[in-house]
Amino acid sequence: MNKKQKKVLIRIIVSLALMISLQFVPFDLLPLEQSYINIIQLICYMVPYLIIGYDILKKAVKGIKNKQIFDENFLMAVATVGAILLGEYEEGVAVMLFYQIGELFQSYAVGKSRRNISELMDIRPDYANIEREGKTERVDPDIVEIGSVIVVKPGEKVPIDGVVIEGNSTLNTSALTGESIPREVSAEDEVISGCINLDGVIKIRTTKEFGESTASKILELVENASSRKSKSENFISKFARVYTPAVCYGALALAILPPLVRMLAMGLEPAWGIWVYRALTFLVISCPCALVISIPLSFFAGIGGAGKQGILIKGSNYLETLADTKYVVFDKTGTMTLGVFEVSGIHHSALENEELIEYAALVESYSTHPISKSLQKAYGKEIDQSRISQVEEISGEGVTALVDGKKVAAGNHRLMKRLGIAYQECHSAATIVHMAVDGMYMGHIVISDVIKPHAKEAIAALKKTGVHKNIMLTGDSDKVARQVAADLEIDEVRSELLPGDKVAAVEELLSQKGAKETLAFVGDGINDAPVLARADIGIAMGALGSDAAIEAADIVLMDDDPLKIAKAIKIARKCIRIVYENIYFAIGIKVICLVLGALGIANMWLAIFADVGVMVLAVINAIRALFVAKL
Ligand code: ADP
Ligand code: MG
Repeated sequence: MNKKQKKVLIRIIVSLALMISLQFVPFDLLPLEQSYINIIQLICYMVPYLIIGYDILKKAVKGIKNKQIFDENFLMAVATVGAILLGEYEEGVAVMLFYQIGELFQSYAVGKSRRNISELMDIRPDYANIEREGKTERVDPDIVEIGSVIVVKPGEKVPIDGVVIEGNSTLNTSALTGESIPREVSAEDEVISGCINLDGVIKIRTTKEFGESTASKILELVENASSRKSKSENFISKFARVYTPAVCYGALALAILPPLVRMLAMGLEPAWGIWVYRALTFLVISCPCALVISIPLSFFAGIGGAGKQGILIKGSNYLETLADTKYVVFDKTGTMTLGVFEVSGIHHSALENEELIEYAALVESYSTHPISKSLQKAYGKEIDQSRISQVEEISGEGVTALVDGKKVAAGNHRLMKRLGIAYQECHSAATIVHMAVDGMYMGHIVISDVIKPHAKEAIAALKKTGVHKNIMLTGDSDKVARQVAADLEIDEVRSELLPGDKVAAVEELLSQKGAKETLAFVGDGINDAPVLARADIGIAMGALGSDAAIEAADIVLMDDDPLKIAKAIKIARKCIRIVYENIYFAIGIKVICLVLGALGIANMWLAIFADVGVMVLAVINAIRALFVAKL
């Protein structure tokens, strides 16, 4: 509980104690006239009333001044002042008291779920230890330049993305990925900011600026998440805008019309007191706090719960769309496969194998494609970038560049066709990198990728959550595509697609699906960022990799685990279900109470109990969204 909340709690206790003590004061026995007794009683009750309600009254007055009259402060102020004017002192104080208890509970609950998120977001690095002339110096991570050497000691957070140049250690990545298994790192491993160094001292050469590093990017994302409102949230704020004035006028009518009718049409006593009291009860009941608070809180909790699992959702609107997912389209490389290719053969090589690999690694040295990284790893030596110039990467085909002054090309058969080079077909069901130097075919490198450990389970889990169809799109050869699709039991596969073809394929699928069905695309952002943006929902793998993916996607899976797709859908469904439960429950109880209040069956006590009760239940229900069901 924070200071502000503690203060409110103290006010509640003091006011409640005073109110209870007043019950034991024998006002009737005072040797005074009744009107004096009333005044003394009023003054006595004003003390607990003002202790508990002064801020609400202040806010209500401020609202009137700012011409934003109809809010819950106004409702509470009118209802309680009205009750006191009618001589119902206890009720006036009690309504204020319960209202404040409800507010306190609510702010506590919101604070708690915010803390949950910031716990997850405990990745903001505060400083970096930079190494200068053999000494380390603690600096603001913002000023560390790319290529600087930073030292991370045990217990510290990695402040900036980079590559380990010295030392071994284990990193705790759980704040980023939700994965509890620590990751071993040693020289040449890439590390991302936000991880916590557990044991050894490591030196890191930074590869990004602080602002471009993973931790900063993620924080930026999450901070912006709540500004994207979902349909239900918009509905609630519109609803409140119409609803509150409507009930205020309703209450006014209830206070005035029946007495007038009684008096003028029926010739009876007007009974103003009864009807004004009913109108005030009506006002207390009508306060829409439960809805106004519980809906955003549910979404907030849903996003927080997902975050704890390493699933970053960029806004509550995506939870709504995600819940209706019926088609899931996958990219292959890096999404369903690890994207770590092993060289499994070299065929028809006109050069020494090592030389061919060297050319391949050099020509690929500027590419971020998983194939390129794998070839550089196969080469294994430091690359002298000055040997390479005029690099050109053709999406979905390969790369060409000048290496040592020779024109080298590495890519698939499409690239060879484009360059007019005769190539040898390969019969293995693997990915082929054809190589050409100065227009001469030099043979091909056969590389194969590994399916991700959870990929098959992920497809099965999606089917179980009610996804109609899983579709895989790939730029790779038909043979490889079919093999992977068969292994994973994917329903449909389309291969040899250029990045533009992937967009077209998704557009075609989008036009076929029903209006309420959602299509999700899952990719790694390499050669598929446009598709991520085009789908109803873009889910990016590889927060540990491509920035383009994080930018273009609506949802980011921090640890590249495809099993998290089904989990994300489950979280979204649970969250939306809770939102609807709360909407129906709160509106239902409100309507019943309003009718009872108007008929004079419900008094103000019942009204305030109903209001606070509904709110507490709705908030507790909302908090459930934080806890994610097991798959
Ligand atoms: P996927 O759909 O499997 O993610 P991409 O669209 O990224 O595939 O690439 C499709 C194909 O294009 C690859 O299978 C490969 O044959 C070729 N390719 C793309 N980039 C490169 C590269 N940098 N080096 C060699 N081949 C490449
Ligand atoms: Mg890809």
